[in-house]
Amino acid sequence: MVKETGFYDTLGVKPSVSPEELKKAYRKLALKYHPDKNPTEGEKFKQISQAYEVLSDAKKREVYDRGGEKAIKEGGNGDGGCGFSSPMDIFDMFFGGGGRMHRERRGKNVVHQLTVTLEDLYNGATRKLSVQKNVICERCEGRGSRKGAIELCTSCRGSGVQVRLHQLAPGMVQQISTICGSCQGQGQRLNPRDRCKTCAGRKILRQKKILEVHIDKGMKDGQKIVFHGEGDQEPGLEPGDIIIVLDQRAHPVFTRQAEDLYMTMELQLVESLCGFQKPIKTLDNRTLLITSHPGELIKPGDKKCVLNEGMPMYRRPFERGRLILLFSVVFPEADFLPLNKLKQLEQYFPDTREKGEPDSMDDDLYIYADLEDCDPARERRHYHYIEEEDDFHPGGGVQCQTS
Ligand SMILES: [Zn+2]
Ligand SMILES: [Zn+2]
Repeated sequence: MVKETGFYDTLGVKPSVSPEELKKAYRKLALKYHPDKNPTEGEKFKQISQAYEVLSDAKKREVYDRGGEKAIKEGGNGDGGCGFSSPMDIFDMFFGGGGRMHRERRGKNVVHQLTVTLEDLYNGATRKLSVQKNVICERCEGRGSRKGAIELCTSCRGSGVQVRLHQLAPGMVQQISTICGSCQGQGQRLNPRDRCKTCAGRKILRQKKILEVHIDKGMKDGQKIVFHGEGDQEPGLEPGDIIIVLDQRAHPVFTRQAEDLYMTMELQLVESLCGFQKPIKTLDNRTLLITSHPGELIKPGDKKCVLNEGMPMYRRPFERGRLILLFSVVFPEADFLPLNKLKQLEQYFPDTREKGEPDSMDDDLYIYADLEDCDPARERRHYHYIEEEDDFHPGGGVQCQTS
């Protein structure tokens, strides 16, 4: 039992969440609430980040499960309290283009999520994705004005600062620096007529770009496809990357675990006992005819597999994982056979009666006990009966009506 579930709730997961599911939950929410996409949800973005930071660290998660948010804030693991990292750092670490140094020399990476089907990941696919990004204005080459139109500010001679001397007393002068009023500290002056009309002097433009995303066979949910240098451009900076994160939609039949595909197959009791043949449509539209061995018996919960019918391996698409079938068995309805036929059926089954059981039962030795359905209403009526006798109040004294 965990003390509180706030961090889990923030990420929309259960306290039993696996590290994989946790990553997926963070990925979805972080992209949704990233300030680039949702500028008004900064607080939410921060909460998601903090919850993920704690829960993704086994040690911190344990501290949280035991003592809740308070324990985390007090640094319950004795390392003198732990502040949270900046949400952006967590985000960059999660999605980052691979631990790049000199971040300050590069423009921002842009992360996009691309929804794909399990079929796409199985067969491979090409998708066109339209993205918005900042590009340097071509017309003015990022200057914001006509070439040569920028002059040094004459008031400050390009320093952006004006220095005034203020005489306090004869021989005592105070030097006061203020931002240059005629160029607003830019050190440059531009005649408004020379301003680039394409970008209105902003140096960059917002541009739509179509990216062709190649999804290779065997790629995984959460896998990143990086377009180097395709991120936002900014004058004087090397452009960042566009990072596409694959987000696999749940499939109605198959679930994937690494290279294996799992599916549940429902058998009728007669099929589980006497054998069966059942078709399965594969993710590339072939039909597999699943056939049991003669005499084989499948029990509820049995697991069988078909080799080489799982997911293709990434970059080795001719090798494939397993298709794993989990069986469930459907029993026939009550009274599906008349009693005399049931008696006949019985004789085909191995004799299950224990040795030493008497052939004829003596009514004095046995108490015949009937089987009843265990429905909750009946149990409560039973409690009610006890309550009257022993003055016992189960479940906070819920009263039941007796007929
Ligand atoms: Zn321009
Ligand atoms: Zn100036």
